[in-house]
Amino acid sequence: MPAESVPADAVPADAVPAGAVPVPFWWDRPGCPSPLPELTGHAEADLAIVGGGYSGLWTALLAKRADPALDVLILERGTCGEAASGRNGGFCAASLTHGPANGLDRFPDEIDTLVALGRRNLDAIERTVVELGIDCDWERTGELSVATAPWQLAVLDEEADLADRFGLRADRLDAAATRAELDSPTYLGGVWHRDTTAMLDPAKLVWGLRRACLDAGVRIAEQTEVTAVRADGPALKLTTPAGTVWAGRVVLATNAFPPLLRRLRAYVAPVYDYALVTEPLTPAQLASLGWRHRQGLADSANQFHYYRLTADNRILWGGYDAIYHYGNRVDPSLESRAATFSLLAIQFFDTFPQLAGQVRFSHRWGGVIDTCSRFCAFFGTAYGGRLAYAAGYTGLGVGATRFGAAVVLELLGLPADHGLERDSLTSLRFVRSKPTPFPPEPVRYLGIQATRWSLARADAHEGRRNLWLRTLDRLGLGFDS
Ligand SMILES: Cc1cc2nc3c(=O)[nH]c(=O)nc-3n(C[C@H](O)[C@H](O)[C@H](O)COP(=O)(O)OP(=O)(O)OC[C@H]3O[C@@H](n4cnc5c(N)ncnc54)[C@H](O)[C@@H]3O)c2cc1C
Repeated sequence: MPAESVPADAVPADAVPAGAVPVPFWWDRPGCPSPLPELTGHAEADLAIVGGGYSGLWTALLAKRADPALDVLILERGTCGEAASGRNGGFCAASLTHGPANGLDRFPDEIDTLVALGRRNLDAIERTVVELGIDCDWERTGELSVATAPWQLAVLDEEADLADRFGLRADRLDAAATRAELDSPTYLGGVWHRDTTAMLDPAKLVWGLRRACLDAGVRIAEQTEVTAVRADGPALKLTTPAGTVWAGRVVLATNAFPPLLRRLRAYVAPVYDYALVTEPLTPAQLASLGWRHRQGLADSANQFHYYRLTADNRILWGGYDAIYHYGNRVDPSLESRAATFSLLAIQFFDTFPQLAGQVRFSHRWGGVIDTCSRFCAFFGTAYGGRLAYAAGYTGLGVGATRFGAAVVLELLGLPADHGLERDSLTSLRFVRSKPTPFPPEPVRYLGIQATRWSLARADAHEGRRNLWLRTLDRLGLGFDS
């Protein structure tokens, strides 16, 4: 529990997020590109990519840079990046496995390689951002994990030990040193992971990658939903409302959206995650917090918050709730959830009581995440190796999707300019294995609700995991945002 809790009725009426506009802050600015035209009529491509988030854009860019003659076409149902890629927290992490602890549990024989590949992947993103002049407010300030309850201190010790083991730079901070970084009375300790996470502006990264793709000769059709894929002679035929594409190779980069390949439904549970953004802080408000090093932060509960400063010194505050809707439902109406926004606002002022009555929220939004039971991406092929997919990033895909792009290209036998210094990615067990599938409905829904309830209970009871969670742990199954 926070040391000094601000009761709900102490949150000023004009600070609750009802006054905040229900759009992602990152899109409510000048500079959003105009949508590109829909695909009409017949088209052909060597490589067709369905989905124009980071997965699709990195796939196109890595392929085109390796082979400029390859004819690449991206088909995006809305505008590139309007889903998770343009509305996330902007934590670009090196980890490919949703943290080293999860990676060590699931891939003990490969974790050293995966940690090294993740670092190279993050370095390669940074190089690309610099080389292409992508103005996405890249700041490699690291991430500070904080404990807000005594039981979480042991979680931090484990995090720091693992960082040591992998030679990653991490500083274990006591309560005073943590509060010297960012002043919240709720902090009992921290681990500052110094260089394995960069903060960035997610929409500006999308726009930069989209521009780079177009400059490299990639064709992009927006407002173009692919409704079916099937084999048609030597090609794969993609159907859209106003056209048809015949492609030699296809990549599915559709994240949590209803998959074009039915078998993927078993592996992905779409989960909604929500965020608030404040108005810009004044210099005095910022000084009341400290936060001179501008790290991203996350607390260490099962239901955790992530938060960071934007380039104009707003605070983005998100996480905690992870909402699944029966039947894998994905719908724009689910991107707003009043109860979650209010809870987030209250928790924000619990964390920063010095801002109560001082700061209002300007934006609120939600987005969908492709949760899978191993919390990190999985990969595969269909149609005799002519189609490849990557999904399951479970809320940590800003960096890892670039690695996934390199994997799907290798699965298709296409060259990729990925700079990961490894000949074969597809020989990794991480790439060859699949997560345990979720059960069908209604068991899926009931199981996820039971897991959410149990995680909240564990947070309220010194982290103690009940029989349900211990059983899931034993089966290697889980649920996370
Ligand atoms: C609120 C929120 C906060 C997050 N915070 C972080 C964070 O701080 N750090 C982090 O690492 N990760 C974070 N994530 C997760 C991260 O954003 C995703 O893992 C990543 O963006 C996934 O990229 P993607 O390209 O695979 O998916 P998406 O960005 O979802 O792209 C998929 C695209 O496919 C398109 N599409 C779907 N179906 C079709 C079809 N049939 N035809 C054509 N197009 C189709 C969609 O319109 C969409 O644009 C967050 C996610 C959310 C929602």
